[in-house]
Amino acid sequence: MYHKMKGTYDVLPDDIGKWQKLEKVIKNVSRLFHYQEIRTPILEHSELFHRSVGETTDIVSKETYDFVDRGKRANTLRPEGTAGVVRSYVENKLYAQAIGVDKYYYMGPMFRYERPQKGRYRQFQQFGAEAFGSNSPMLDADVIAYAVAILRALKIKDVTVHLNSIGDDASKANYRAALLDYLKPHVGDLCHDCQTRYQTNPLRILDCKIDGGGPILSNAPKPLDYLSDAAKAHFDELTGYLDAMKIDYEIDKNLVRGLDYYTDTVFEVKAHLETLGAQNTILGGGRYNHLVADLGGPDVPGVGFAFGLERLMFALESINFQGDPDYLHLYLMILGDAQKQDGMAMLNRCRMGGLLADVDFLDKNMKGKWKQVEAAGARFVAIYGANEKEAGTVNIKDQQSGEEKTIPKHQLYNHIVAELMKPADSCDSCGADSCEDCEE
Ligand code: AMP
Repeated sequence: MYHKMKGTYDVLPDDIGKWQKLEKVIKNVSRLFHYQEIRTPILEHSELFHRSVGETTDIVSKETYDFVDRGKRANTLRPEGTAGVVRSYVENKLYAQAIGVDKYYYMGPMFRYERPQKGRYRQFQQFGAEAFGSNSPMLDADVIAYAVAILRALKIKDVTVHLNSIGDDASKANYRAALLDYLKPHVGDLCHDCQTRYQTNPLRILDCKIDGGGPILSNAPKPLDYLSDAAKAHFDELTGYLDAMKIDYEIDKNLVRGLDYYTDTVFEVKAHLETLGAQNTILGGGRYNHLVADLGGPDVPGVGFAFGLERLMFALESINFQGDPDYLHLYLMILGDAQKQDGMAMLNRCRMGGLLADVDFLDKNMKGKWKQVEAAGARFVAIYGANEKEAGTVNIKDQQSGEEKTIPKHQLYNHIVAELMKPADSCDSCGADSCEDCEE
């Protein structure tokens, strides 16, 4: 008996419908916002994440799944999606074909060696989006609107958009100096990691899970108060668009996000739902104006976000989100071994014509077969036994109306298609859309 690895989970058939529906909603909204799917490898050179996410971030310093392959190369299972998308954007010179802004979305597994708990896994699913080619705050607003539209389409209501700006290069340099100054007398009171961060990456101290919320950091200067004129104008323009689009947000001066590549806008969405427990941040994102250049591309700005799909799924639990139920157009009951070849041929013809159809492979008795019909949610049941074979017919029952009929067996496919094409509220007697004659 083998067990799944810690921090991983199986999606079983009972739950797959919900995942498929969630993915469908996301893809539909992505079309509305004119984003195209991009699929990049799960494996990348370790260097990519060191360079983009940052050496000193928790993700890279503590959480990546790294291994040396047989060719002695250092590989990493991707811990997030942006680095791979930017690598692909640069490597495939997608920027060279750009006529407008390039908008991509991705969906797939990410890997982080974290302490597993509800809403925190070692293999988890992210859906994320990246938009390249404009520094306009209009694009930041578009990206935030896209994330919010997905939540709306999923009917997740109780959420707050937390918004902040960490500023452009000039603001960040200003702020860094102020922060170092403020923290200097407190360094000894910070956690061990933050004492190192003070030297390497002081901004990350604000994001610390241990010191965060404590008095030292609560009283620390905030990036928003050190914005350059340009960064302030960028932020004000963004909030103007969000106000115009009636997207609610809260300015959260403490929000910095745990990845190195952000500039200017950063945002997160938190859901206030019991089903989420402590891990209630369902998405995070921001602008990254230097990442494309840092990874060897031209000076092209970008902005994006990533949703954790498991957390989204927990949020959906509270509103009883259901996948589409299992459904078959046809369940064929073959009675007797001598009818099996004919039966399989009929079934195959129906499937080739596009009907969802299945059969009993276990030679169950009639009770067992009817149980399968119910479990599969079949609309029509066709019974084909020795008598039907003799007469060249098949008995068909419409599970919706209860109506039973005997029809020539070669008409099975056409009969079902004709029945399925009748409008739902059509006249029971003649099938017409509205029928005064029959009603009378
Ligand atoms: P990040 O890439 O860290 O900004 O995370 C973006 C989103 O991914 C978060 O808001 C979470 O919803 C989700 N996420 C991050 N890490 C995990 C994890 N270990 N397990 C499940 N979801 C995660």
